[in-house]
Amino acid sequence: MKLIIGSHVSFNKDKQLLGSVIESLGYGSNTFMLYTGAPQNTKRIPIDKELTSLAHNLMKKENINIDNVIVHAPYIINLANPKNFDFNVSFLKEEIARTEALGIKQMVLHPGSHVGIGLEQGINNIIKVLNACLTEDTKVDICLETMAGKGTEIGKTFEEIKQIIDGVHCKDKVKVCLDTCHIHDAGYDLNNVNQVLSLFDNIIGIKKIGVVHINDSKNGLESHKDRHENIGLGNIGFNNLINIIYHDKLKDVPKILETPYINTDNGKYPPYRFEIDMIKKKQFNNQLVSDIISFYK
Ligand code: FE
Ligand code: FE
Ligand code: ZN
Repeated sequence: MKLIIGSHVSFNKDKQLLGSVIESLGYGSNTFMLYTGAPQNTKRIPIDKELTSLAHNLMKKENINIDNVIVHAPYIINLANPKNFDFNVSFLKEEIARTEALGIKQMVLHPGSHVGIGLEQGINNIIKVLNACLTEDTKVDICLETMAGKGTEIGKTFEEIKQIIDGVHCKDKVKVCLDTCHIHDAGYDLNNVNQVLSLFDNIIGIKKIGVVHINDSKNGLESHKDRHENIGLGNIGFNNLINIIYHDKLKDVPKILETPYINTDNGKYPPYRFEIDMIKKKQFNNQLVSDIISFYK
């Protein structure tokens, strides 16, 4: 089986997509995910055509299939809040256009938080924004991310995600991003991956999974915290993550790591090169953190 794996990488104004491709190749990845600007704000730079075409040439040369590359929408926008409707629609439309300009076909989106107006109202607002943005001509699929259920987050159950998809007119353009840390924190026990996936299949349909975010969790089952941990160092554990990464039903789905950088007194180092290496070997590395530090220092 050909594993499709990569990580979150940066996208900066000087190198744009070309820089993202180069960074991901340094981790031994064959795909990646980027934010088109800082995830915490909605300031965005125009997409440079020349850098985009250089990036596409490099991807062809290095066998990175652009269909597996992912954009993550900023998490500051809250589609469930009706006060932001006009802004949400215009921003999401622009973000879809930027993703199309990069030639990328899938965008991950957090459904939103109802912030006290109630789950049903929140879900209705999310549906309205999606219906205002998606048309038959949209070239990007939206992958609604499964959430940990922190605060009033919507999408903490497969049923909530299903309810959103059911309300959207262009249903074929809406898929799901399954985040292992989030579903664990929401209460889905990854000690039984088969059971979780067949539950997902019964409620939404396994074919709807467009991306899997691979993260361990700093907290326990049903903790609703959403704090990612490095692979094998958290409460989900290495073997359960390997079971989902190599699951036959998910073999064509890109896997993206969003695990935390390793903090030291001298700086922060990306863990991805070493995490991807142990995933490829299916062998947990007891020296993970010290290997990362000695490589980058
Ligand atoms: Fe996310
Ligand atoms: Fe995620
Ligand atoms: Zn998260």
